[in-house]
Amino acid sequence: MFCPRCGRTDEELFDNLCKSCFLEDFVLAEIPGEIEITVCAHCESRLISGKWHELELSDEEIILNALNNHITLNKYAQNVEIHVETLLARGSNIECLVHTRGTVLGEDIEQGYKLNVKINRTVCPECSKFTSGYYEAVIQLRADKRVPDDEEVMTSDAIIAENIDKIARKNKMAYISQRNVLKEGIDYYIGSYKVAKRISNSIKDHMGGVIKESPRLMGRDKSAGKDLYRVWISVRIPYFKVNDFVKYESVIGQIKSIDGKKILIKDLNSRNQISVQWRDYDKIMAVAKEEDVMETTVTAKTPDSIQILHPVTYEPVDLQINVDFAEIEIGSQIPIIEIDHVLYILDC
Ligand SMILES: [Zn+2]
Ligand SMILES: [Zn+2]
Repeated sequence: MFCPRCGRTDEELFDNLCKSCFLEDFVLAEIPGEIEITVCAHCESRLISGKWHELELSDEEIILNALNNHITLNKYAQNVEIHVETLLARGSNIECLVHTRGTVLGEDIEQGYKLNVKINRTVCPECSKFTSGYYEAVIQLRADKRVPDDEEVMTSDAIIAENIDKIARKNKMAYISQRNVLKEGIDYYIGSYKVAKRISNSIKDHMGGVIKESPRLMGRDKSAGKDLYRVWISVRIPYFKVNDFVKYESVIGQIKSIDGKKILIKDLNSRNQISVQWRDYDKIMAVAKEEDVMETTVTAKTPDSIQILHPVTYEPVDLQINVDFAEIEIGSQIPIIEIDHVLYILDC
C-alpha cells in the first residue's frame, strides 16, 4: 500500500491517497457559484423552494435558506457548520462568502467559497391582490330601520382602522381596498374574509347588533380546485341607543348598555336590570328616545307616594314611591319619561 502522489508507504488510503495528500485537495462542500432568490418588491417576502415566506430573516439567513438545497457535503465531513457573510451588495447582486467548517478524519477544516446571489424583484401573489383591488369580503355597516349616524360611522371607522393596523403586521391580506358611502350605510371592502369576520365581531362587541353573512359564488379556482366565494357581512346595529326606552315582553325599561353579547335594560317599574340576548332583539320595541326625557317638579311626598306635576298639563300626578326615590325632596326638579300616558321617574 503506497500513496501514488507522495509515494509514502504503510499509510491508510482515502480515495486512493494518503491522509495528508487527501486533505490537500479536500473540498468540504460543493456550493454553486451563483444562486437566485426572488423577493417581493412590496413586502420583502421571499420565494424559497417555490413557496412565499414572510419570514423576518436577515439577508444571510435567507441566502443560507436558499442555498441549503444546492449544497452537497463531502461524505467524509462531519459536524459541518455553514454560515454566509455578505460582502457587497450592488444593484440586484449580493457578493457573499460562504464559510464552512467541519471535521474530516479527525482534523478540523475550515473553507470559504465565493457566492454570487442574484436578486429577482417581483410581486408576491398577496401584494398583487392588494394592488389589483382584490377583496374577499365586504363589511356592510347598517342600522335597523334607520341610517347609522355620524358618530356611529366614526366609531366603526376607528374600530376597523385599529384592527387592520394590528392584524396587518402578521397578515398582508388585512387591508381595506375600498370604503364606499351608501345612503343606507358604509361598505368596507376587505382583502381577507377571515380578517373581515374578525373585524365585524369587533364592531359588534363595541356597538352591538346582528351579524348576517351572505356568500356569493364568484367562480372557481381551477389550480386549487375549489370554488371562490365573496362574502357580504352585514353588521346591523340596533334601532335604539343607550338611554333610549323600550318595551320587552311585559317590561318597560331604559337601555343601560349594549355590547356584543347582550342588551341591559333597566325596568322602570321594578327598578331591576334585565339582560336580553341579541337573538331576542326582534322582541324589543323602541317606545321613546333619550331626547323625550322631561323635567318636572316634586310637589308632595308621603311614605307611600310621590306627587309630581305633569310637565305638559301641569296636573298633579301621584306615583308609587320606590326605595330609589326616598331621598327626593319636595320642590326638586327630577327627570321623567312618559310612555303610553304613564309617567316614570328616572334616576336623578
Ligand atoms: Zn500522499
Ligand atoms: Zn408581497
